[in-house]
Amino acid sequence: MRMFLWTRTTPQRDGALENDIVVHEYTHGITNRMTGGGTGRCLQTTEAGGMGEGWSDAFASWTEKTSSAVDDFVMGQYVINSAAGIRTHPYSTSATVNPLRYSSVKALNEVHNIGEVWANMLHNVYASLVAARGWSATARTNPSGTEGNIVFLHLFIDALALQPCNPTFVTARDAWIQADVNRYGGVNKCTLWKAFASRGLGVGAAGFTDSSTVPTGC
Ligand SMILES: [Zn+2]
Repeated sequence: MRMFLWTRTTPQRDGALENDIVVHEYTHGITNRMTGGGTGRCLQTTEAGGMGEGWSDAFASWTEKTSSAVDDFVMGQYVINSAAGIRTHPYSTSATVNPLRYSSVKALNEVHNIGEVWANMLHNVYASLVAARGWSATARTNPSGTEGNIVFLHLFIDALALQPCNPTFVTARDAWIQADVNRYGGVNKCTLWKAFASRGLGVGAAGFTDSSTVPTGC
């Protein structure tokens, strides 16, 4: 795992001393190993690599939660000694605070920037699952609960193994939907679709053109 000294402050600050940075880097190890059959070579396209950055931020956010509140989450405040952190926006359920949508990717070509779009979608998926199913304070040690934060992390991990090599936003979304079918019989289908669609990744999303459509019955 590559950790770095950040040069934005004097003295420099060590990323190893900031939990969300450490979790971000560990999550690269998970997503690279679980996507596409374990080759470690399946997050290579710009879009897939960008989503790799997004999963890492989303997992960091998950580990920072201490209550059912889904507050805005800011990455990397310590390493640059700034409340604004190292990303362009906080992760938020508010489209005013964070306006990133599927179509935002069209104008992006740097993996961390693309990752922000995916991480913010996952932030909204997390919020929707917690709203629907509640929140467990023991999620880190008891993965058998039915609360939304537990469901979120199961689907997060399960979907990695289901998605194809070099996933796209669309195929990664589909993997979440399939993971829910496999593990929970699809009970979270509409919750998931509505959350993805709220950020443009609805049924008709393709080629970085937004869709807010959800399946019939949702
Ligand atoms: Zn990263």
